[in-house]
Amino acid sequence: MPGKAHHLHNGGPAPTFRLCDLPAELESEVLDHVAHLARAELNAAARTCRSWYERLTPNLYASIEISKANRRAVFAGLGLDFLSAPDLESRVNEAGSEHAPSNGAAAYAPLEAPPKLAALAHTRRILLRDSPAAVALAEALLTHPTLSGALDELTMAAPLFRSLVSTGMAAFGRPRSGAGFLGETLVARLRPKALRIEYPPPRVTSSASIFDPVMLARVLAVLVSEWQPERVDFIGVGTDMPPVLGQLTRVFCLGCSSAKRDERVWGDDAGCSAHGGLVRWHLRRLFGPGAREDLIEAIEEGADPTDDDDIHPDAVPYAAAAKVQYLNVPCLAALDRDRFLLDTFKSWPAECDIEGRIEFFP
Ligand SMILES: [Zn+2]
Repeated sequence: MPGKAHHLHNGGPAPTFRLCDLPAELESEVLDHVAHLARAELNAAARTCRSWYERLTPNLYASIEISKANRRAVFAGLGLDFLSAPDLESRVNEAGSEHAPSNGAAAYAPLEAPPKLAALAHTRRILLRDSPAAVALAEALLTHPTLSGALDELTMAAPLFRSLVSTGMAAFGRPRSGAGFLGETLVARLRPKALRIEYPPPRVTSSASIFDPVMLARVLAVLVSEWQPERVDFIGVGTDMPPVLGQLTRVFCLGCSSAKRDERVWGDDAGCSAHGGLVRWHLRRLFGPGAREDLIEAIEEGADPTDDDDIHPDAVPYAAAAKVQYLNVPCLAALDRDRFLLDTFKSWPAECDIEGRIEFFP
């Protein structure tokens, strides 16, 4: 560009350099680099010009975070009304149009497919921050049945998971409304290969449980059996160890306690006072005598006796087929694992072969 070069030589004001003025090959190389930048830089780059926005759209939408605060921006153009869960349920049950005979919400879609739909088709990972985010996603999926629910990873942040356990999905299989409807919609329409569940922070008395154990077991049984995720991560676990495992389950524990477990009671390989007992108890509940019967009993305890269509015992995932890894447990990772497991199952023999299926990581 001789004109620009000349201009600079004259010492006048430098012309604005625009990346999209680069030769195509160079621009393409820059974009390849930009596409792998962090979120904030990617957002800024996408605002450079229209062609950059289009080129970076797959990267921009590959991983999205949805919250009450940003849901209108994320789903802009999809014609959503951001209904409450009960209102969304009523809409779905309205008589559909001739184009959408089975789902009333689909009749509310804009006549022309919005460009945002194509952008969201690139999404492989979703983080749902809260319940309003989950309801908005449910409304998007129901309004636009072409929107795929196949994901590489779904993260449920603590407020959402807590509300699903305390209200919604516990009603799975029952005449349901509101939050129960939300849980069923997510379960039916999403297909994540990996599931990440963030736990709420522990209560003041750290051993107090956060979830109703029956409801926790029911919700996890539904999620794992319906989605069959390759991996389930539980983040920030200090109590309420997951009673149901995915094929590979990673339990990210809260940090170690400075106090060691009483070795006179617990033996030499005991770990710290936060992890030693918690993990031992968890392993026995998963693999020890009567573990599966106890789990099924707990799940049935939460069922509505008038409901014939509750979770079937055969559908409850088998711990005996799963691998479990505990992370953020340096106190256990430092031990002789075989000896720790031997002590764990000494008086509570495992009912299945646990060889190579339990691991500890610092
Ligand atoms: Zn520890």
